[in-house]
Amino acid sequence: MIKLGSPDIDDAEVAAAAEALRSGQLVQGPRVAEFERLLGERLGSPGVAAVSNGTAALHIALLLLDVKPGQQVAVTTFSWPATANVIELCGATPVFVDIEDTTFGMDPERLEEALRLNAGIRAVMPVHAFGGMAQIEAIKSITDRHVVPIVEDAACALGAVLHGRAAGRWGTVGCFSFHPRKAATTGEGGAIVTDDPALLRRARVLRNHGLDPAAAEPDFVEPGFNYRLSEMQAAVGVAQLRKLDRFISARRDLAAHYDRLLAPLSVETPRSLSVEAHVYQSYVVLLPSEVAPRRKAIIAAMRERGVETTIGTYHMPLLTYFRKTYHFKAGGHPVSESVAARALALPMHNRLSAADVQRVVESLADVLRSS
Ligand SMILES: *Cc1c(COP(=O)(O)O)cnc(C)c1O
Repeated sequence: MIKLGSPDIDDAEVAAAAEALRSGQLVQGPRVAEFERLLGERLGSPGVAAVSNGTAALHIALLLLDVKPGQQVAVTTFSWPATANVIELCGATPVFVDIEDTTFGMDPERLEEALRLNAGIRAVMPVHAFGGMAQIEAIKSITDRHVVPIVEDAACALGAVLHGRAAGRWGTVGCFSFHPRKAATTGEGGAIVTDDPALLRRARVLRNHGLDPAAAEPDFVEPGFNYRLSEMQAAVGVAQLRKLDRFISARRDLAAHYDRLLAPLSVETPRSLSVEAHVYQSYVVLLPSEVAPRRKAIIAAMRERGVETTIGTYHMPLLTYFRKTYHFKAGGHPVSESVAARALALPMHNRLSAADVQRVVESLADVLRSS
């Protein structure tokens, strides 16, 4: 079976995790600090706080911006549900903003409209879908004009860069995930990046039971979570970050190979604002509209041919909770609905070979011909 994704773990990660286990210090130690330092170096900011997963990073980010019950947060329609769930977990209400069919990111024009119609929007959450950057420069110029902060969901986009600025560095707070489906993984893991020292300090308070990290005596200054990353996870993360450039260039090469081989087929290949702006956490194509209703059968037929594929990600307004709570109907966010129905993720991981890519494309061509 050619797998959809596969973590790239070798002896370096195994040795690092074993060393952490033998050290006796399993939490809040030097490996977490080193992981934060390396990530900060990569992102050009000293303001990194490691947390237990990407969802924890997003949750803390909204709390840092004082998002409260009754307020609104503008969020993209097309993402892993965690992006919108954290808004609800703060007691706030999502204002879903439709996407573009090119970047699969928030459509700046629709954002402008949402901000004009909803004076209560306290934060904006764009997502860099599948590791490809949204039109974040246009989004930022709109949020600047409306004086609303951005929480950037860069869960899939570590290493992506637009106009010289890294994904995760465009907003007041940037969030990353190190789940095994992301290019670099710690098993479970996440991180927050911010240039605001007060926000960074509060992120460290919130991830650790409300404990003030600077106080001489234990001082619990507000109710916090246990959203900490362990030393074993951080040790793995340090080893992964050292290989990040290699991971990204392998994925870009595979994506280019897919692009070439898929050109004669009827599917649309992923688009990127520039070479640097996509790190291909996933390689997601769009099926022709008339074929999309048969996507489930296509995924099953691909599996029969030994190739694992899946849907892209979710159109969140029509998930049961959001649909029932806010009475969303089909047709409300047409671009996202169409993209979500047509998207097909093909195998993409660091260890995929050019021959694997060829087999995936041949299988897809075969399945599309007979479907
Ligand atoms: C993976 C992902 C998350 C959640 O990260 P976890 O580490 O799994 O909690 C959030 N948003 C997006 C866009 C993601 O892809």
